This record gives sequence, structure tokens and C-alpha cells, in this order.
Amino acid sequence: MEELYDVVIIGGGPAGLTAAQYAARSELKTIVLDKSQSAGALAFADRIENYPGLPEPVSGKELLDIFREQAKRFGAIYREEQVIGVNLSPEIKEVYTMSNTYKSRAVIIATGAMGRKPTIKGEKEFLGRGVSYCAICDAAFFRDRTVCVIGDSEEAVKEADLLTRYAATVYLISPSRKLKVDEAMVPQKDNLKIMKGVIVKEIVGDETVQKIRLMDMADNREREMEMDGVFVYLHGNRPIVDFLNFAVDLSDEECVITNKMMETNIPGVFAAGDVTCVEVRQVIIAAANGCIAALSADKYVHHRKRRRYDWSKSKGE
Ligand SMILES: Cc1cc2nc3c(=O)[nH]c(=O)nc-3n(C[C@H](O)[C@H](O)[C@H](O)COP(=O)(O)OP(=O)(O)OC[C@H]3O[C@@H](n4cnc5c(N)ncnc54)[C@H](O)[C@@H]3O)c2cc1C
Repeated sequence: MEELYDVVIIGGGPAGLTAAQYAARSELKTIVLDKSQSAGALAFADRIENYPGLPEPVSGKELLDIFREQAKRFGAIYREEQVIGVNLSPEIKEVYTMSNTYKSRAVIIATGAMGRKPTIKGEKEFLGRGVSYCAICDAAFFRDRTVCVIGDSEEAVKEADLLTRYAATVYLISPSRKLKVDEAMVPQKDNLKIMKGVIVKEIVGDETVQKIRLMDMADNREREMEMDGVFVYLHGNRPIVDFLNFAVDLSDEECVITNKMMETNIPGVFAAGDVTCVEVRQVIIAAANGCIAALSADKYVHHRKRRRYDWSKSKGE
């Protein structure tokens, strides 16, 4: 029989992991589905010194590791899987990844705000016809073909590495020169070619992608390359809500609308952190939102009249 969770948390940043800690500590069966440990806003922060309780500044990644280990210590399960769809209306909700369907009583959305609108000419037009945002979802379609990954983050490097298992050649095209490819993480491969300081100006094709137009920042010269697939891993500052397919109410800015208890318009669905219409995007706010969302989920799952704040006290208030 398929497992039924009390709470599925989508996103493993400070909002999702704090929600996981509180939910697991209240003995809710809790799982966190996180696209990547290096894709959220906190993973991009080199130095955090304003999160309370830190005796010394730490990197965002170090702080995330602490959040993650703390949530796991209370029994939360953590899985690196990208959520690609949801069915939130029924009492038992479903959350879909490429390899699994997760069923749960409550869902907490905590996917942050590193999303962007398509900005490259042709990107929107060829989405699903050669343009992709998910290597694990689409890599197999490009077996023995030529693809590129556009981005300069650790996530982009990891996704390019994954694509080398399928594609004949993978071009990792970084718009900046700051791209670092850590050899310990991604060993050198003959079919991985790295291009730094190169901007993809246009994706061109007919039915599907056929080529890209590039500009090399070193000499401002433009040229074309034949290409079968384009994986875009550039980041922006828009809430990540595409996988929701408008299943919950969004504002005009496409942030998830919640009340102050982090409840969305769908019973049993909560949201926390930068993906909500919060005015201040900071770790402490995301963590606080995650705490409230978990308390609200606990109240919902157990049909309590009030939220329970101290898990050591008697149950069933
Ligand atoms: C460069 C930088 C520096 C910063 N410096 C500071 C600072 O000094 N102090 C401070 O307080 N704040 C700082 N911030 C802001 C802070 O990092 C954010 O407010 C905070 O991380 C938001 O937490 P979150 O959990 O809502 O989202 P995020 O941290 O963005 O986490 C979202 C998570 O969701 C996952 N995800 C996304 N889509 C999916 C999907 N479809 N399926 C599954 N998982 C998904 C991502 O992989 C990620 O792990 C900084 C932000 C940046 C970008």
C-alpha cells in the first residue's frame, strides 16, 4: 500500500526545513521534497551573520545543513526530488515528482522565490519542445544528442553532469566568468564542454529547437551553434509556483496568498517563506513562517480547535 504522510513539505530551504522540524517534533509523519540543496536563496548566500543565535558568521550552505540535520533528528524524511505537479483539492492530497506520487493529509509549499520569467528570445516558445527546466525529467529524451545548460550556479553544474550520462555532448554555458566547476563534485568528462562569459541571445528552431545564437563577451562576436536541447538554470527573484498550476490563490505578482496563520485558500494547504507574499525576504522570517505553517498543519491534521505550541504537554487539546 502507498504510504500516507501527514505532511508533505515542498522545498528544503529555511521555511520548509523549519516546518519539517516542528511538524516532525509534533509527531506528524513528515517528508520534505527538495529540488536541490544548492538551488534555494540561502544556498546562494556566502555569509550569514544576522540569523539570531549564530556565534560566528556561517555560509548559507552551512546554515542549511544545520536546519536539515535538525529536522531529520526529529524524524523528518528529506528527499532530493523536484515537485512537478500537485492535486491539492481532495482530502488526501497528491504531490508528484518524476519518480513518485506522494499522498498526504496536509501540504506546505515552501519553494522560495528564485524563479524567473523566460527572458531569452525563443525560450517560452520552445518550452517543452527542446527547452527544459528539469534535467532529471527530460535528460532521457536527449540520448546521443547535443544539449546545453545555461547558468553559473552549482545547480547548473550538477545538472550538466547528469546530462553527460545521456547526451553526446553537453555545453555548460555560463553568462559570467565566475562559474566554478569543482572537480571533486563533477569529474572531468570528454563530453562536457564549458563556455564562460557567453550569453545565449536566442533559441531558434521550427517544430523543435535546432540552434542557439550566442555572444561571446570577450569580443562581442555573435555566432550560432546547432543544438537539440536547451536546459535553462538561470535564477531570478519571482516566487516558484509553476508546479502548482494555479491550484491555490496567487496574487498579481504570483506569490502564494496566505493569512497570518500561513493558510492558503485550500483547506490543508499552507505556505511559508519567500514563495508567499511576505514583504521581508530574510531567513528569520522564512523560518518563522515555517513554524506557523507546521503548527497550522498539526491543528488541521488532528482536527484540533486550537494550535498546540508545546509538544511536551498532553495531546488532543
Ligand atoms: C545572495 C543572497 C544573500 C542573502 N543574504 C541573506 C542574509 O544575509 N540574511 C538573511 O536573513 N537572508 C538573506 N537572504 C534571503 C534568504 O536567503 C531568503 O529569504 C530565505 O532563504 C528564504 O527561504 P525559503 O525557504 O522561503 O526559500 P529558499 O531558501 O529559496 O528555499 C527554497 C527551496 O525550495 C526548493 N525548490 C524550489 N522549487 C522546487 C520544486 N519544484 N520542488 C521541490 N523543491 C523546490 C529549492 O531547491 C530550495 O531548496 C539572502 C538571499 C540571497 C539570494
